[in-house]
Amino acid sequence: MRRPFIAGNWKMNLDRAQAVALAAGVAQRSAEFGAVDVAVCPPSVYLAAVHESVAGSPVGVGAQNIYFEVSGAFTGEISAAMAVDVGCRYVILGHSERRHILGETNEDVNRKVVAALAAGLIPIVCLGELLAEREAGQTADVIRQQFDGSLAGVSAEQINGIVLAYEPVWAIGTGKVATPDQAEEVHTDLRKILADRYNTAVADAVRIQYGGSVKANNAADLLAQPNVDGALVGGASLKVEEFMGIVAAAAK
Ligand code: PEP
Repeated sequence: MRRPFIAGNWKMNLDRAQAVALAAGVAQRSAEFGAVDVAVCPPSVYLAAVHESVAGSPVGVGAQNIYFEVSGAFTGEISAAMAVDVGCRYVILGHSERRHILGETNEDVNRKVVAALAAGLIPIVCLGELLAEREAGQTADVIRQQFDGSLAGVSAEQINGIVLAYEPVWAIGTGKVATPDQAEEVHTDLRKILADRYNTAVADAVRIQYGGSVKANNAADLLAQPNVDGALVGGASLKVEEFMGIVAAAAK
């Protein structure tokens, strides 16, 4: 049985006071939903403050990115160990904004996955097709290539500690949510990929979130799909009530 997992990706939003208040609001409400794993992923400069704000609650904190090197002359980057040091349990890797705006490749994502696992972080690895790729019937191929490239060399034991997030790029921040059937189709493909590369026990155990314009009013239908185990939420994670509405849908 896979535990539902709802994570909020705050992206480059909020100031320090707003981040701390939002985290406190989520932490306060999360006790009502003990059957759901909940995480918040603030900008890296607010990680420590947010970690303090959720202390004593079950809410996990995640970074939105890390660099794959351990330390050194990498101006502007943070390492996996630094993320752990300020309280992170999770790290989002391969988000489409990093792939398509900041030029991250599958190879970069793979190196980051390896670094995150070595530091004891749980990677949330994002995969998803562009609108043009979906329209050209290439979704399954794109997902397979991203999976193979981003998770190259990851063992069966390691993949159990990874969360996948299917995030169609055309649905992120656009208000155009994938239909439950569209999400379920890709999640089912991902489980087949996991079964082919590893085994059915791994395929059954790995959690796969859906991400892309998830809101409190559309979450229930998506989360009711047998292979949708949670959500990676952008815009709707910036308001306590909206985000907790999604957590409540996952708890049902
Ligand atoms: C995201 O950033 O991962 C995301 C899914 O954003 P939104 O929910 O705003 O579409």
